[in-house]
Amino acid sequence: MRQSQLFTKTQKNAPKGEISLNAQLLIRGGFIHKEMAGVYTILPLGLRIINKIADIIRSEMNQTGGVEIQSAALQKKETWEKTGRWNDDVVDNWFKTKLKNDAELGLAFTHEEPLANMMKGFVSSYKDLPIYVYDIRSVFRNEVRAKSGIMRGREFFWKALYSFSKNEAEHNEYYEKAKTAYKNIFDRIGLGKETYLTFASGGSFSKYSHEFQTVCEAGEDIIYADEEKKVAVNKEVYTDDVLKNIGLSKEKLVEKKAIEVGNIFSLGHKFSEPLDLKYKDEKGMDQFVFMGCYGIGISRLMGTIVELNNDEKGIVWPESVAPFRVHLISLGKNDEAEKIYDNLQKNNVEILYDDRDASAGEKFADADLLGIPWRVVVSEKSLASGGVEVKKRSEEKGEIVKFEELIGKIR
Ligand code: ATP
Ligand code: MG
Repeated sequence: MRQSQLFTKTQKNAPKGEISLNAQLLIRGGFIHKEMAGVYTILPLGLRIINKIADIIRSEMNQTGGVEIQSAALQKKETWEKTGRWNDDVVDNWFKTKLKNDAELGLAFTHEEPLANMMKGFVSSYKDLPIYVYDIRSVFRNEVRAKSGIMRGREFFWKALYSFSKNEAEHNEYYEKAKTAYKNIFDRIGLGKETYLTFASGGSFSKYSHEFQTVCEAGEDIIYADEEKKVAVNKEVYTDDVLKNIGLSKEKLVEKKAIEVGNIFSLGHKFSEPLDLKYKDEKGMDQFVFMGCYGIGISRLMGTIVELNNDEKGIVWPESVAPFRVHLISLGKNDEAEKIYDNLQKNNVEILYDDRDASAGEKFADADLLGIPWRVVVSEKSLASGGVEVKKRSEEKGEIVKFEELIGKIR
């Protein structure tokens, strides 16, 4: 993409009142636009990152047997009344609205109820199970606090998978698969080292749920982490009993601030019973479907990556989620930059080409703020040395690389 075609512009300063570092940098770089507290428009550069994260998640969910759907955002009151979750005293973050005839509707904050209700039309026999469906979309929550930038949105982008199993044993098998898939996801997007499998509060069907907590000063949660075993306990459930159950020794645990980037939860019959989601087993007996849910905050992940990968000049994107692989910068008018742009595109290298009529200082400052992993500069000086100057965003020094060696270098 040519930068001259990008309508977004970088900004020297973040908007007043935006206190979180992730939103400050993302707004300054033109990745997102703030509509109001907790509500952001994802701009072209930001959308490329969201899509990369979503594609990594999609590939790992498909590996576990997941199938993708696009669920409805508008929710029917009657379905939610069956589980008691329409009530504002039970769920305090609904956004609700009305039809012209005054019938109440909700804006989806999650989808256990509508999907369990929908599955009644598809599940009748044990032969129909298990089913693993997932959804990558925006959900809406009337959050009280929205001070963590894009990490706590009132409208945010997530992946949620819902599992429908015959019984607890079949559910547990999938639950373990999901843990592995989540580990792969956080490894692939570059957060593996800081992310802990964390014991958190469960529900009526299991003592614990599991969160994936990424250690970061900007986090809203406190965890006690075993750095060797790479497991942690959320402060919410931190008792001697819990420690004994995960074979953790207290002396070894370190208190850390962390961001909940995902969680997995055994739901049992909590939703299938009130919504009457049943199947006939091998003996022809009615059984309730055993459910689980598995969330990942995609927009929260984008914020988390920024919180952990930045310096005084801007963002430093990990290669797997960067909006482009190469930022080509042309200084002064020259035909070589155009040729390199065409050639890299032909070779399927994702490239942002700064073809604007701007000063070297402005171009370099923007490149640092945007944080694309490889910077390639074409200037009179580089041409005189027989090539282009190549520098990684994460490194201080660049080097001259000959034209014919460029693709090999940045691949
Ligand atoms: P939190 O404790 O942070 O409010 P939660 O327990 O409400 O999270 P879930 O409802 O289970 O989280 O949602 C699944 C995932 O969605 C979370 O692990 C988190 O990564 C993400 N998420 C939850 N709320 C938000 C939000 N307001 N903005 C962005 N991402 C969110
Ligand atoms: Mg919440």
